[in-house]
Amino acid sequence: MLNLSIFLEDSARRYPDREAVVLGDTRLTYAQVNGAANQAANLLVSRGIRPGDKVALSCPNLPYFPILYYGILKAGAVVVPLNVLLKGREIAYHLGDSEAKAYFCFQGTADLPMGTEGHAGFEQADGCEQFFMVTADPAAPSPVEGTETLGQALRDQSPVFEAVQTQETDGAVILYTSGTTGQPKGAELSHSNLVMNALTCNRLFGSRPAGDTHLLTLPLFHSFGSSVQMNAGFSNAATLVLVPRFDAKQVVDLMQKEDITFFAGVPTMYWGLLGALTDDVDVDRIAANLRISVCGGASLPVEIIKSFKERFHVQILEGYGLSETSPVATFSDPDREPRPGSIGIPIWGVECKLIDPEWKTIEGADEVGEIAMRGHNIMKGYYNRPEATTEVMKDGWFRSGDLARRDEDGYYYIVDRAKDMIIRGGYNVYPREIEEVLMTHEAVSLAAVVGIPDESHGEEIKAFIILNDGATVTEDELRGWAKEQMANYKYPRVIEFAPTLPMTATGKILKRELS
Ligand code: AMP
Repeated sequence: MLNLSIFLEDSARRYPDREAVVLGDTRLTYAQVNGAANQAANLLVSRGIRPGDKVALSCPNLPYFPILYYGILKAGAVVVPLNVLLKGREIAYHLGDSEAKAYFCFQGTADLPMGTEGHAGFEQADGCEQFFMVTADPAAPSPVEGTETLGQALRDQSPVFEAVQTQETDGAVILYTSGTTGQPKGAELSHSNLVMNALTCNRLFGSRPAGDTHLLTLPLFHSFGSSVQMNAGFSNAATLVLVPRFDAKQVVDLMQKEDITFFAGVPTMYWGLLGALTDDVDVDRIAANLRISVCGGASLPVEIIKSFKERFHVQILEGYGLSETSPVATFSDPDREPRPGSIGIPIWGVECKLIDPEWKTIEGADEVGEIAMRGHNIMKGYYNRPEATTEVMKDGWFRSGDLARRDEDGYYYIVDRAKDMIIRGGYNVYPREIEEVLMTHEAVSLAAVVGIPDESHGEEIKAFIILNDGATVTEDELRGWAKEQMANYKYPRVIEFAPTLPMTATGKILKRELS
């Protein structure tokens, strides 16, 4: 018997008065969050939700997110978090595909009218019976006439609830991901997948007796934010300072004001943070509190690791994984000197190997292969998609679609995603390698390299560059410099200077939109 909501319940029992979530002036204790989650569970049960039913949730990083997430789990139901940027048609697809019976949707803002989109999606979806509009002010009316607000629905619900006892292999969360190919598919993760991942993360992160204070700006609908910071943090009775939308200046201000001890982000967030360190920022104060910083989700350029260490005296620890792997599969070894550019070694209880397209193991050190994983973190499968599951899973092993190499000491290095590899004139070119080199140029702040169609070479290499403030370099100069740094078939023939780069809601660079 195991229910992931035990993390909240146990911390509420041990530290009822400790702050669990902070958002601006709102500060809720563990007892308050647990009481509200119990009300949500009572609401669901009173509306006919049964163990195993799916309940969707569209909510940015607000206190409602953990309240509803753990409330759904307590009722024995399965949480289906949705990307907050989805439009009505996409929401209808996700509700239908996951067979959601109920849907909690935040009202949104003028810029992002999630409530209107969510309700439109709910109206189009078959089989979803209940819609709750989550309003910023629980007493306010719904922005969509005729819909029930969460505030109204919770009013008479008791703050006491005994969590439904689920089996450890029961589904707990379905995370939508495009995987390596095709339409979004729901990676179904069990209670034990997620409990084990959070506990193993905590073992690697260590803890602070007084409780860590996390700055949580990774979106909670994604596994990085929900597993590595929310579940792991709640199991340790940490305080989560929520930032609904990444804004580097706001993050830096909060790091000073809230004495943040734990920061996690994708590489572009670290890049943004370093760019926001203006003279008025008390970097020493941030450095004095910051105990641990974790990066994952995309390759972290070594230049960023160096600059961060110089400013904050903290080594960024790098982890790797996917939604399908709960998500953490490898992590920097905390007991050994970190190796910049490496994703570390498999976490406790997880095995990794490199394979060829026929699942054959590649043994040699420094040979490139697709990284495959086996262990307590591997999803049950893609929900209702046995064929898609069979494509990526064999004998308990899950193949990732990412190319990696392993050094003689067993450290893994992501070479690139298989689908991002460029084939130029018959040579395999890995964009990550070129990006790393370009970022060592003094004028370059950020680089993203993609393949573009080319008649004579099949594909040609193109680099999008964001320059450092005030830096000047011409395309010709940069191309000439790059040519001297790397083999002839690798250097970018086409260079485009860009003020910004397109990013996903998680902050990963959206390469498919670059051409
Ligand atoms: P998602 O399922 O959205 O979490 O995306 C998973 C993908 O993110 C992986 O398949 C990798 O391509 C990428 N990824 C995650 N962590 C890293 C990392 N540390 N270095 C490079 N790529 C990463």
